[in-house]
Amino acid sequence: MSGALFGATALSEPGAGSDFSSIRTSAQKVEGGWRLNGEKGWITNAGIADLFITYVQTDASAGWRGIACFLVDARREGFARGEAYALMGAHAIGAGGFALRDYFAPDDDMLAPPGEAFKLAMKGVNGARVYVAAMCAGLLASALETALGYAAGREAFGKSLLEHQGLNWSLGDVANDLEALRGLVAHAGGLIDRGEDAVMAAAHAKKFAGRVTLPRLADCVQAMGAAGLREEYGLHRHIAYAKLGAYTDGSTEMMNERIGAGLLKSYGPAK
Ligand SMILES: Cc1cc2nc3c(=O)[nH]c(=O)nc-3n(C[C@H](O)[C@H](O)[C@H](O)COP(=O)(O)OP(=O)(O)OC[C@H]3O[C@@H](n4cnc5c(N)ncnc54)[C@H](O)[C@@H]3O)c2cc1C
Repeated sequence: MSGALFGATALSEPGAGSDFSSIRTSAQKVEGGWRLNGEKGWITNAGIADLFITYVQTDASAGWRGIACFLVDARREGFARGEAYALMGAHAIGAGGFALRDYFAPDDDMLAPPGEAFKLAMKGVNGARVYVAAMCAGLLASALETALGYAAGREAFGKSLLEHQGLNWSLGDVANDLEALRGLVAHAGGLIDRGEDAVMAAAHAKKFAGRVTLPRLADCVQAMGAAGLREEYGLHRHIAYAKLGAYTDGSTEMMNERIGAGLLKSYGPAK
C-alpha cells in the first residue's frame, strides 16, 4: 500500500489471449519448487511492476486443469522485461511483456495449484469487466460534458448548436446510452458487492460498453465540428481507451459467447 512495489497480473501471451486455456508458458517441477519458461504479452504495468501474478501450464495435455498460478518476482534471476508497447494511446498503462528463462519459483510462491488457478482467474474477471464498463461510462460522461460545453457556446445559422434539433437529439442519444450503461454497471456491481452471481450481468455491462462507447464518443466529436479533433479536448485519448476496453478482461465477442451460453438458463422458459 505504500506504493514501494507495483503488481501486475499475467494471463495473456503473444500466442494466447481470448483462449486463455491455451497458454504455453510452462512450469516444470524440480526439487523445492518449479522451473518456469515462456513469454507473457499484453500485461498492464509490465513496464514497471515488481511482482507478477503469473499463470503457467504445468501439463500441456491437461488444458485448463493444468494451469497453475505463481508469484513471479521481477527482481530475480531468469526474469527479462520487455519494452512497453508503442500503442495508439493508453500509454499510462505501460502494457508490455516479459520472458521467463529457467526462472526458479520456490514451492511457497505457488498461489494456486493446477485445477484451482483457472477458477481463480475466472473469479476475479467479473469485477474487472464491470470496472472496464464503468471506465467506459466515465469516458462517455466526460466526452458528453465537453461536447455540450462547446455546442452551447457556439452559434451557427443564428442560434447555438444545441438549439438545432438534429444535433441536440444526437447528444440526447449519447446521454441515453450513458444512462443505460450506468444502470448495467450499477446492477452488476451491486450483485458483486452482495456476493451474488454476476456472470451474466458483468458480461451484459461489458458488452454494452463495447457496443456503444466508441460510436457515441464519435458523436461527441462530430457535434464539435472540426474543433472536436483538437488535442486540447482530449477526445482522441477517450477513443483510444474505448477501443482498448473492447479487449481487456474479455473482448466484446467473448461477452457474446458468455451471454449466449447463459441465454436459456437466464431467459428461457421456467422448467
Ligand atoms: C492495453 C491492454 C492491456 C492488457 N492488460 C492485460 C493484463 O494486465 N493481463 C493480461 O493477462 N492480459 C492483458 N491484456 C490482454 C487482453 O486480455 C487480450 O487482448 C484479450 O484477452 C484478447 O486477446 P487477443 O488480443 O490475443 O485477441 P485474440 O484472442 O487473438 O482475438 C482476436 C479477435 O478475435 C476475436 N475472437 C477470438 N476468439 C473468438 C471466438 N471464439 N469467437 C468470435 N471471436 C473471437 C476476439 O474477440 C478478437 O476480436 C491487455 C490487453 C490490452 C489491449
